[in-house]
Amino acid sequence: MVMESSFIPQELLSPIRQQKVYLQIVKQFIELIEKGEFSAGMQLPPERELARRLGVSRASLREALTVLQMMGLVETVAGQGTFLTGKSAASVKYSLDSISVGESPFVIIQARKTVEPSIASFAALHRSEASLKKITEILDWVESDHSKDRILGNIFSEGDRQFHLEIAKATENPILISIQEIFHSLMGQDLWLTMMRHTSFATIGRWEEAYQEHHMILEAIRQRDARAAAHCARAHLQRVEKIMIEADLIPNIPPNKDTEGIDNHLSSERRGHR
Ligand SMILES: [Zn+2]
Repeated sequence: MVMESSFIPQELLSPIRQQKVYLQIVKQFIELIEKGEFSAGMQLPPERELARRLGVSRASLREALTVLQMMGLVETVAGQGTFLTGKSAASVKYSLDSISVGESPFVIIQARKTVEPSIASFAALHRSEASLKKITEILDWVESDHSKDRILGNIFSEGDRQFHLEIAKATENPILISIQEIFHSLMGQDLWLTMMRHTSFATIGRWEEAYQEHHMILEAIRQRDARAAAHCARAHLQRVEKIMIEADLIPNIPPNKDTEGIDNHLSSERRGHR
């Protein structure tokens, strides 16, 4: 017997989003702050202890702390530890929603390091005079006079995104272009941009080094030297990653290590660092 039926009202259903671990940590902190469980000046336990209590890796915890710091909810005092600022989550500039939609800078730079050197070498082999001209124009735009004003960081980040996208376009391969378009949009999200403007990252000296590295990539593509293009792109992204690690913006994870190894590595890094 067939019963008369109608479809369930679909507007009642909301999409299931699997939330990243670091965002779940951030959310828990925000909830506790909003409930008034935490007060200004309270100190967070050492990372190892906090990670154990939350049942997360120290890498995820480090990412969460970076976000909380960018949101202005915690601050790190060198040599003393991490403290709650006492700000309410509602008062901060970056809402959890705006951060939730993106990927963490840590996974973005990992993916870029893996993929972009190959894209650059492919671009060196397939570039046309027209695509070379476009890449050059982007670099000229970033370095033109108006980039020397106070919004240098903004222009650089926009120019940087465009530069790397134009390299992918020079491959004339629609799949490689689509992959780079994903990076392009991730590099436009709040978390990445905030990080790029982070004081210890966005100094004139850093930008100037990046200009030079961009020129080296361009030159290799101009010379149709695939190997040099890959090498220069890799060196550029490795330096970006190194700056992020040094500024404590992303965790330092050595390849092929288990969690315990990571913890040991991080603590030895820290001992050497401070
Ligand atoms: Zn770049």
